[in-house]
Amino acid sequence: MLNCGSSTVKYKFFNMKDNLLLAGGLADRIGSSDSSLAHAAAGRKEHVCREVLTTHDQAVEKILRLLTGERGVINHVSEIHAVGHRVVHGGCYFRESVAVDNEVLKLLEKCSPLAPLHNPPNLSGINACRKLMPAAVQVAVLDTAYHQTIPDYAFMYALPHNMYHDHSIRKYGFHGISHSYVAARSASMLNVMLESLRIITCHLGNGASLCAIGGGRSLDTTMGFTPLAGLIMGTRCGDIDPAIIPFLMEKEGVSLAEAMNILNRKSGVLGVSGVSADFRDLEGAALAGHQGSRLALDMFSYSASRGVGSLVSTIGGLDVLVFTAGVGENSPDIRQRICSRLNYLGVSLDEERNSVKGKELEISSPDSAVRVLVIPTDEERAIAEETRQVAEKIIHRKGS
Ligand code: ADP
Repeated sequence: MLNCGSSTVKYKFFNMKDNLLLAGGLADRIGSSDSSLAHAAAGRKEHVCREVLTTHDQAVEKILRLLTGERGVINHVSEIHAVGHRVVHGGCYFRESVAVDNEVLKLLEKCSPLAPLHNPPNLSGINACRKLMPAAVQVAVLDTAYHQTIPDYAFMYALPHNMYHDHSIRKYGFHGISHSYVAARSASMLNVMLESLRIITCHLGNGASLCAIGGGRSLDTTMGFTPLAGLIMGTRCGDIDPAIIPFLMEKEGVSLAEAMNILNRKSGVLGVSGVSADFRDLEGAALAGHQGSRLALDMFSYSASRGVGSLVSTIGGLDVLVFTAGVGENSPDIRQRICSRLNYLGVSLDEERNSVKGKELEISSPDSAVRVLVIPTDEERAIAEETRQVAEKIIHRKGS
């Protein structure tokens, strides 16, 4: 699977038949003179190649050489049957992962204005792979697709109707690959049917969002038209009064672009604390008495518990609460802060179990009315699994 950013290509190569990760790596600073590619075959030492990579095409070509070369894990490119591509925005066009053909590419291009930083590099990766691996099935796995089941009264904004029809302005939601993966894992862990559970998944990383899942489908989420909305995040402000934007531009004398840069990159817990966007730093600083860090952690956890409270009404109660991503998986302190405000729902944590970091575990106490789980997200494996399912259908159809 490939995850292409503006100057990076992250990749993982799986043998899905035996559920094995064979290799992976990262091409970094594509387009600059100090680009590099760090590649590791499973169980072997990482190997860093310094090579000028000007385009995503060149990066993919180099990755294929590494997979098939001396340190490689396959003999020939034709052994790759399918490539899964993370695509951030699929607009209203895609409700699930899809095999890429010319028609699909056109629709994905139409979504680029909705995610101008993400979709164009995602598409560069797809185009490079189509050229270099013409026989392989290319599959687009979309961050937005999972949320296409959200009903209209939840995804519409109360703006004049033509804003939706003319400009596609609506809630899309993101982190769908992660929310869907951990929701499915939670049902497996509890050994019950996913469809029977009312679940809220908390994806708390640099970006953070919640998702309410009922009947096995996303029914609402905290991110919106863009990933700037919803919870307070590492550097993003989350929900604010939109009237703040023109006020801030006037008072600070900044352009709209700079105002958006402030909201995206200088706000969130970084902005509030004035110290860091990294929760490990903030927890350390707060312990040492730094007031800004204490406030940032209070605001972050309050915004998450308030979000959970609001989504409970979406699904009419709560059976399972899942914590995932960097902060959700690794911070007992944040989980405890969030859950302590959810006592009224019958949420109760087992203190010792809540000390877990980065491992699947139920952390609620036996008398908790809500099962609380820590589930490390694995978006790469989820993309690979989606890709396998789509590719198998195509290959089967071609064969019959
Ligand atoms: P993203 O994928 O959105 O870039 P991650 O899911 O990797 O982000 O999460 C990164 C965040 O996880 C960082 O802010 C970091 O502070 C936080 N994090 C990682 N380990 C810990 C930890 N042990 N305690 C608290 N926070 C942690």
